[in-house]
Amino acid sequence: MGKLHVFNAGPCLLPQVAIDKTIDALKDFKGTGISLISVSHRSKEWGEVMDECRSLWKEILNIPDTHEVVFLGGGASMEFLCVAMNYLEHKAGYLETGVWARKALKEAQGLGNAVAVASSADRNFSYIPKDYQIPSDLDYFHVTTNNTIYGTELKSDPESPVPLIADMSSDILSRKVDVSKYALIYGGAQKNAGPAGVSFAIIRKDSLGKVSRHIPTMLDYRVHIDKESMFNTPPVFAIFVMNETLKWLKSIGGIDAIHELDVRKAETLYAEIDRNSLFTGTAAREDRSIMNVCFVMSEGNEQLQDEFLSFSKAHGMVGIKGHRSVGGFRASLYNACTMEDVEALVACMQEFEKIHKK
Ligand SMILES: *Cc1c(COP(=O)(O)O)cnc(C)c1O
Repeated sequence: MGKLHVFNAGPCLLPQVAIDKTIDALKDFKGTGISLISVSHRSKEWGEVMDECRSLWKEILNIPDTHEVVFLGGGASMEFLCVAMNYLEHKAGYLETGVWARKALKEAQGLGNAVAVASSADRNFSYIPKDYQIPSDLDYFHVTTNNTIYGTELKSDPESPVPLIADMSSDILSRKVDVSKYALIYGGAQKNAGPAGVSFAIIRKDSLGKVSRHIPTMLDYRVHIDKESMFNTPPVFAIFVMNETLKWLKSIGGIDAIHELDVRKAETLYAEIDRNSLFTGTAAREDRSIMNVCFVMSEGNEQLQDEFLSFSKAHGMVGIKGHRSVGGFRASLYNACTMEDVEALVACMQEFEKIHKK
């Protein structure tokens, strides 16, 4: 088989060096003679991995001392509930920019009063709402910075008069973030930071403890900060791979270097979508995501969709079928995806155009 080019939306492609280091550790973790997945999570050697992983998050994202990083099982979907548990007292506001944002809102509505402050549901979430006012009486305002399914992305940290909370599952570690602007940043690791099985939360410590409800222990961010993400057995495998992924990211130059590459990859693919008469982008131009590039066959060429899917598959492209709620195609260009992968997809689109150009 020829080389595969993996554009899966999540779980994502991870750097080969992180996979190789994990294979070694599965056989013998840090010279202990014990496999990574059998070593005690209370051992000194494991403690070092936890400490290193926390430090790398802080260093790479320039996280101030006001904030702490925790790792949790349960995924971003569980954090939808944690957010409301830990922050919702009177009223919460959500920016409804897609299915994930809507799911986050729904979890909050199960606990209390939560509303969509603005929504782009009217055009199938193909843009980010811009002209809205964040009410100043909210407990918090929640945004989804990158809408994985629709390929739209908030390009800057929003200004909010109330505590700001962000689901950054699918664009964390791809761009600079001013962490000081957020009460909480969270997400599942499996879109850009590691494998499935662990999620992260970057929490401003003084933003907690303001609600009157009883918070179940496992959903209480204070417990996880206090116990350094080891209140119960942490997902050791997933955290190990995440740590190796962060080490790789640091070694190639951190956020500045990866952002430059991520932008270049996205611009290359968008340029081809705009140039190629057979394809058209689905997201509003100014809101185009650098992580998930969504496109469809252009008007009059819709019947070629299945043919392009099998054509691209035969050329080694994996995972470019769009989400069922949007259709068409989606290429996810997470950090471990290379320029070479993107160029292969572009070449495939050009070849397809040559065959079909009228
Ligand atoms: C994938 C995704 C989620 C869900 O993550 P899980 O870890 O599977 O619960 C939430 N939000 C966004 C933006 C996502 O892309």
